[in-house]
Amino acid sequence: EAFRERGHQMVDWIADYWARLDEWPVRSAVAPGEIAAKLPEQAPEDPGGPDEWDAIFHDLESVILPGITHWQHPGFFAYFPANASGPSVLGELLSAGLGAQGMLWQTSPAMTEVETKVLDWMVGALGLPGAFHSERSGGVGGGVIQSTASEATLVAMLAARTRTLRRAPTVSLDALTLYASEQAHSSVIKAAMIAGLAAHPDDDRQVRKIPVDASMGMDVSALARCIEEDRAAGRVPFYVCATVGTTATTGVDRVGAISELLGSGEARPWLHVDAAFAGVMALCPEHRHLFEGVDEADSFVVNAHKWLLTNFDCSLFWVQDREALLSALAITPDYLRNAATDSGRVIDYRDWQIPLGRRFRALKLWFVLRHYGLSGLRAHLRGHLEMASEFQRWVEEDPRFEVVAPRTSSLVCFRPVGSDIQAQSLLDAVNAGGEVYLTHCVLPRFGEQGDRRGSVMALRMAIGGMNTHRKDVARAWEVLTEKLTEIQASSSG
Ligand code: PLP
Repeated sequence: EAFRERGHQMVDWIADYWARLDEWPVRSAVAPGEIAAKLPEQAPEDPGGPDEWDAIFHDLESVILPGITHWQHPGFFAYFPANASGPSVLGELLSAGLGAQGMLWQTSPAMTEVETKVLDWMVGALGLPGAFHSERSGGVGGGVIQSTASEATLVAMLAARTRTLRRAPTVSLDALTLYASEQAHSSVIKAAMIAGLAAHPDDDRQVRKIPVDASMGMDVSALARCIEEDRAAGRVPFYVCATVGTTATTGVDRVGAISELLGSGEARPWLHVDAAFAGVMALCPEHRHLFEGVDEADSFVVNAHKWLLTNFDCSLFWVQDREALLSALAITPDYLRNAATDSGRVIDYRDWQIPLGRRFRALKLWFVLRHYGLSGLRAHLRGHLEMASEFQRWVEEDPRFEVVAPRTSSLVCFRPVGSDIQAQSLLDAVNAGGEVYLTHCVLPRFGEQGDRRGSVMALRMAIGGMNTHRKDVARAWEVLTEKLTEIQASSSG
């Protein structure tokens, strides 16, 4: 009964929090150690009394909220969005309340079967190939929810490594070579470090960072040359990560062209597509061209936990050949053996991921899909895309600013015309104001002929918050222009 009472109070607290988000500065302004200093030195020895929960609610306001950056704030334009919608939060709560572990089909059949079904739905909704569909592929391919895109990229790399070494057992581990564009997410290099293929982030003995062209997508001919040179030197290309929607600019690697150059047969490297942020745009047919060639990919990941109204974590990952994944990750200690597994008729998702235990993450996506419907999700995405297009126009029409990368999604990369120092001052001034929060990236710069001319710092306007509306984007633009005027006045004065 105490849970019921405090649970209602907590849901009310969250709903109130969402209603008053704009009362706080978007980015927490506390200094390092400030929150820790408000906490006692030791864990409480005695149970809290009947009033403890009142004290907890009090601490939410006085200890926790000052140290929170409000990712659901309408003025949050930093990094990428991390939508936490009501339906998804209720799914998360239910998953915690059920408290079930879904490592085996047998440990909660609904956890496995709902997940498989929802991922199959998403194959259809995103226009992905039938080979990713558990049922339609006849159990050859299929999807699974991973915690993060980073984990998906890692397990894809492990599957690729195992598949390559099984096909060619005499190949030594240190001949394996992997490829991603210089704009690929750092999780690719991190995966290589975990997989024992790189000793540190700059270790390039087995990792090739392929340059991008002015589109901010991978220079496919540079990839072709690199693979050719590596093969000639006796190396074994085994994994290529193509990104659809890079972190800095949402640049797009041309998956179809990459797939074509990889050829076919046993020597073809594993092709993984990281569409962590932009992948959800495939829900809208008018954006499917960004995904041309994905049919040929061995694996594909998109985060529902960024822009798809599903709270962290919920990363959707598909493979065409589940056997490759299982051969890298499956292990059955005696205590997990059971008749359902032995029958071969069920999926045990523990074999598709790194941890053993897993919670019921499919619930929140199921709730999101039922609540909003695919049409609601498309409207959510299209609304932000329209806002981004308008924001881009404002930037282009103001001679004091420039757009510095082609826009493919709801992210606009721009900067004040001038030095990086001025760009940094503008970013600092805007973020100090507390109404909006943007982050930055560093990009290669290209001349008219596509020649490389050093790098520049850009501001990223990442539109996609579930509470962000046109008026919030307009206000952000107002703040940006006002602050730039102030900066320019003070530097000329
Ligand atoms: N890949 C890309 C392209 C990203 O932009 C990001 C994060 O923004 C990631 C991977 C990492 O996502 P996650 O936090 O799910 O590992």
